[in-house]
Amino acid sequence: MTTADPTAESDAQRTEPTAKTVEPEAENAKSEAESAVETARRQLDRAAAHLDVDDGIVDRLRHPTSVYRVTIPLERDDGTRAMYTGYRAQHDSVRGPYKGGLRYHPDVSEDECIGLSMWMTWKCAVMDLPFGGAKGGVVVDPKDLSAAEKERLTRRFAEELRPVIGPMTDIPAPDMGTDPETMAWFMDAYSMQEGETEPGVVTGKPPVVGGSYGREKAPGRSVGIVAREAIDYYGWDVEDTTVAVQGFGSVGANAARYLDDLGAQIVAVSDVDGAIYDPDGLDTTDVEDHDETPGMVSGYDAPETLSNADLLELDVDVLIPAAIGNVLTGENAADVSAELIVEGANGPTTSTADRIFEERAIPVVPDILANAGGVTVSYFEWLQDINRRKWSLERVHEELETEMLRAWESVREEYDARDVTWRDAAYIVALSRVAEAHDARGLWP
Ligand code: NAD
Repeated sequence: MTTADPTAESDAQRTEPTAKTVEPEAENAKSEAESAVETARRQLDRAAAHLDVDDGIVDRLRHPTSVYRVTIPLERDDGTRAMYTGYRAQHDSVRGPYKGGLRYHPDVSEDECIGLSMWMTWKCAVMDLPFGGAKGGVVVDPKDLSAAEKERLTRRFAEELRPVIGPMTDIPAPDMGTDPETMAWFMDAYSMQEGETEPGVVTGKPPVVGGSYGREKAPGRSVGIVAREAIDYYGWDVEDTTVAVQGFGSVGANAARYLDDLGAQIVAVSDVDGAIYDPDGLDTTDVEDHDETPGMVSGYDAPETLSNADLLELDVDVLIPAAIGNVLTGENAADVSAELIVEGANGPTTSTADRIFEERAIPVVPDILANAGGVTVSYFEWLQDINRRKWSLERVHEELETEMLRAWESVREEYDARDVTWRDAAYIVALSRVAEAHDARGLWP
């Protein structure tokens, strides 16, 4: 195995990632079924171990600033009433207003919101955005609601959260089960009560009511940009690089098409029903993504079909898990043949799998960096809203490229300077920024 040279020009001699020193850690004995808050705290502790951060600040960051629980009464279409529980966890705002999605899902819980709000703090900090972290949601299966019921639920939820959110306080965004239309209702309900139009109270809105061009495709685009940089870091030629993408949805399809445009061979993509494989490379614009036509990915006329499990073990250069969390586990990590993993989904790699990849010298570029294009363009949207000035799509793409490169460079510097994984390097960048801000602001007695 040769030593990776980040400055190497791409040529026929491909460099391979080298194994970083693996220190024994008790946490690896832990079960893979870790809650979001446990994962977030474990990552915080790992990053803190590399930094000279005041214990009091780390302790503070193990906890959210506030968690709000609200009851949302809804009049169903048949005239009956139903009660739903909603949450908003606000983790940290030392660098700016809280920022994070609202999800509608039956599994939403207080603990999940707290864990995900911590992730948002790190994601915003690694991107150097002037935001802190938050997350919220309603315990509901949106498939059980009509469009009118979803709108009424959203408007009432906005009203219940109104005292604790706002363009300079806490700015929600879409997440699982919510979309631009939900954000438009949310913004409208908030604005009606405030007596003025406040587009900056949420991001991810349709462009006609203050949304940004390029917002929906931004997470996938950033995964593509970060994968491109990682490919370059290892001295590979993108045109000789084979890529498999699990989950050809919003994130996966946009990442795959971005890399396809650069000349990479996207040999396999999948949806929930299965994967398609072409060793010569698929035409990713011809394959419709899940959102365009459900079932079209697995039903596409490709040379071979595979299961989602087979896709994860394909012998490719880059694997992009972009479907759901916890797909790379202690069960399959030893069988993954990719040379590089770039996380498109949130939390696709369990801590056990992370440990195995570290031992096997398979670099994993983490979600908080790779898919952060979404929150970054949300920041652009917020800037456009508070300045009442729209940016062109070209400007959004240019600024996203700049921000992603800046973040990539910060993480790469830590990765090169320390004996850590890419994930740890990203958390180290994030924690140092948050801790420095806490230090500078001091503690209110
Ligand atoms: P999406 O619904 O647009 O696409 C998901 C894709 O994954 C679909 O092709 C679906 O068929 C497939 N899929 C679903 N369940 C699967 C399973 N069990 N096995 C294999 N494939 C499966 O979703 P998305 O918005 O692209 O989000 C994907 C991931 O990226 C999620 O983890 C999400 O949290 C994360 N993410 C999304 C955004 C965003 O703004 N869209 C931003 C950051 C992170």
